Amino acid sequence: MPFTGNWEQNVRKVVPYIPGEQPKDTDVIKLNTNENPYPPAPEVRRILDDFNESDMRLYPDPEADVLVSALAENYGLDKSQIFVGVGSDDVIAMAYMTFFNSDKPVLFPDITYSFYDVWAEVFRIPYETKPLTADFRIDPADYCCENGGIIFPNPNAPTGVFESLDTVESIIKANPDSVVIVDEAYIDFGGESCLPLINKYENLLVVQTFSKSRSMAGMRIGFAMGNEKLIKFMNDVKFSVNSYTMNRVTQICGAAAVRDKSYFEETVSRIIATRERTKKVLEDMGFTFPDSKSNFLFAKPPVKPAGEVFSELKKRKIFVRWWDKPLIKDYLRISIGTDDEMDRLFEALKEVLGIE
Ligand code: PMP
Repeated sequence: MPFTGNWEQNVRKVVPYIPGEQPKDTDVIKLNTNENPYPPAPEVRRILDDFNESDMRLYPDPEADVLVSALAENYGLDKSQIFVGVGSDDVIAMAYMTFFNSDKPVLFPDITYSFYDVWAEVFRIPYETKPLTADFRIDPADYCCENGGIIFPNPNAPTGVFESLDTVESIIKANPDSVVIVDEAYIDFGGESCLPLINKYENLLVVQTFSKSRSMAGMRIGFAMGNEKLIKFMNDVKFSVNSYTMNRVTQICGAAAVRDKSYFEETVSRIIATRERTKKVLEDMGFTFPDSKSNFLFAKPPVKPAGEVFSELKKRKIFVRWWDKPLIKDYLRISIGTDDEMDRLFEALKEVLGIE
């Protein structure tokens, strides 16, 4: 008989976030987690080739100064306005811990990044979701009530819909007593960043990532930009949990990626061009979708239910994302790959949907 007791009553029980599948099979067209189909900047490869034993033996710089400096220069900010973390998931989790400490609910849209409610649950933060309009837009009026903080992605995920800076600003302006986090994971694919507003509003935190536009999802780099005070508060919390979050090689690779602006612009514009072509092809097939300014489309297939199309594509080794959830179960989220990968997707879709 094992020794038993009531220890389970003290466990923090949560329903975890479910990330998109990372198949072991390499022979797959992977359009399910919004990764970038192109390699990172060439200098990143060279750094990895030179990676030496001291880089492994010694602790990394806890301030990640090389990376923070490169980001500061790139965005025209002071280093004190930048926080870096291990992916924007880490940055946002730190921001929740730092800024969302009220008894009032944190607000976010009902259709959005499915990690937002998970963080609220794990940190025991009350929250309330606000419905998007029928065309998947945020109504700023919904965010003019008492709250303990606000977070939304712009462009939104999984819809890809971009809200204008006027909309974003009206939400920030109406909430001087809360921190507003704008999650700009997909901003580089054609949206306009609200970053300039950090000089106007000290309650605005803008979060971005290297996982999408800089092709470095596997390296795990995210960052937040905001007023010096906000960043100091976040660093105080981070240094109270784990000072050495980002490893040495990632810091150096990240800095190199930021410095190569022309490579960044070239790959981003290739993805935008492929996305626009994908919109036309899917539209011709009868798909409907809100306009996307991200590196994915949120598209409702004709003829067959989305769940069935998802499974049929998977059988053909094409992975897209589908959620069996009431508000979004009619849609597939399709990441933009290379032109060749998209052509293979189109062929498979024609077969699955019986389109000539
Ligand atoms: N925010 C949004 C809206 C996302 O879609 C993602 C990607 N899953 C993230 C944040 C986190 O990205 P990462 O941790 O790779 O920076």
